[in-house]
Amino acid sequence: MAAPAPASPAAATRGPVTAYVALGANLGDAVAAVSAALQRLAALPQSSLAAHSSLYRTAPVQATGPDFVNAVAALRTSLTAPALLAELQRLEDEAGRDRPYRNAPRTLDLDLLLYGDARIASPRLVVPHPRMHERAFVLVPLAEIAPQLVAPAALAAMTSQVIARIP
Ligand code: AMP
Repeated sequence: MAAPAPASPAAATRGPVTAYVALGANLGDAVAAVSAALQRLAALPQSSLAAHSSLYRTAPVQATGPDFVNAVAALRTSLTAPALLAELQRLEDEAGRDRPYRNAPRTLDLDLLLYGDARIASPRLVVPHPRMHERAFVLVPLAEIAPQLVAPAALAAMTSQVIARIP
């Protein structure tokens, strides 16, 4: 007999998947915002925080305002990719993020970089994140926790972007 369907088929997978999330903030106390967001990620339903990178300070790329603080987290999650994106957006909203215009300074930005080996191209979610390979603030922290996912040549192409690990 077939196994019963999960109560919420849209929100659960068959088993945990490793998802990588990029965190960034450049308003107020950005170190505190990213640190708090890591704790909030660890508390997401059906998820656990498997690893996180150091925090990094980076100059804005295609954005305005003060320097950013960035990090990357690895989650083991049984949320589907859309359900995980919805949780990330909830955390952004709870951090008080406004979206007055594209690439505006933000109290918290959470991007879903990778969701297992899934390739997703829906109107609301594109995975792998389409700009992750252009950004030192993603690739450097990602390489810290998952070096197998970042080609050395990709990292070498980032040297013009200013990024410093926060001790
Ligand atoms: P942003 O303002 O940079 O946080 O972009 C948020 C918008 O990008 C939302 O409308 C999302 O639905 C969309 N989006 C598409 N793909 C992704 C992704 N991989 N991670 C986060 N947001 C995404």
